[in-house]
Amino acid sequence: MKYELNFRNNRGTDQELLDDLRRIANKLGKDSLTGRDYDDADKKFSSYTIATRFGKWNIALEQAGLKSVLERDVSEDELFKNLENVWIKLGKQPLYRDMKQPLSKFTPSPYNRKFGTWIKALEAFVEFINSVSEDKEEISDEENSIEITIKPEIIFKHKTKRNPSERLKVQVLMRDGNKCRLCGITVTGDNIHFDHILPWSKGGETTLENLQVLCAPHNLAKGNIE
Ligand SMILES: [Zn+2]
Repeated sequence: MKYELNFRNNRGTDQELLDDLRRIANKLGKDSLTGRDYDDADKKFSSYTIATRFGKWNIALEQAGLKSVLERDVSEDELFKNLENVWIKLGKQPLYRDMKQPLSKFTPSPYNRKFGTWIKALEAFVEFINSVSEDKEEISDEENSIEITIKPEIIFKHKTKRNPSERLKVQVLMRDGNKCRLCGITVTGDNIHFDHILPWSKGGETTLENLQVLCAPHNLAKGNIE
């Protein structure tokens, strides 16, 4: 009697993995599959298992006789927009390893494809962010009249919008880091507050010079004395 453990079979042989890829593609009537297509289907393994076994998902597809998944060409705008979002969520410059779900919509791959390297992508992004230093979008009289109704005694004709744009938020974060300017505590995500140094209600504008990063308690404390 021979005792042996058959780990290999538990995880599936290479052939079984490829067979299952073909089976699911057939079932879905597709000549290519994304990892998500596969994982959402009634499959035997996981896209992770397959991708790691063959080194890359696309290599597995190729060996299964399927078409590789096209790497979508993401626009520069989308890449920058995503980087802005990640930067704001983190409160600081994203690292290569931060660029993954759920924090980031894209991995570093499309950045590398578009800009050559991740560092070059960051450099291009910083240049883009700093190319417009202030929010000078046209604001309608309607938006200003709301302020007038709330505070009839003081009428400020603001040149900027009250809420900073995502781009301006990133500029403030680049300058202040993700630390509250009053207590120095590290803040991330929803705890980052963009405060008007000279309050908006007192005519303060939404500009880089008049904005600062605050933690939630300090933002609240400041709100109460305004
Ligand atoms: Zn604070």
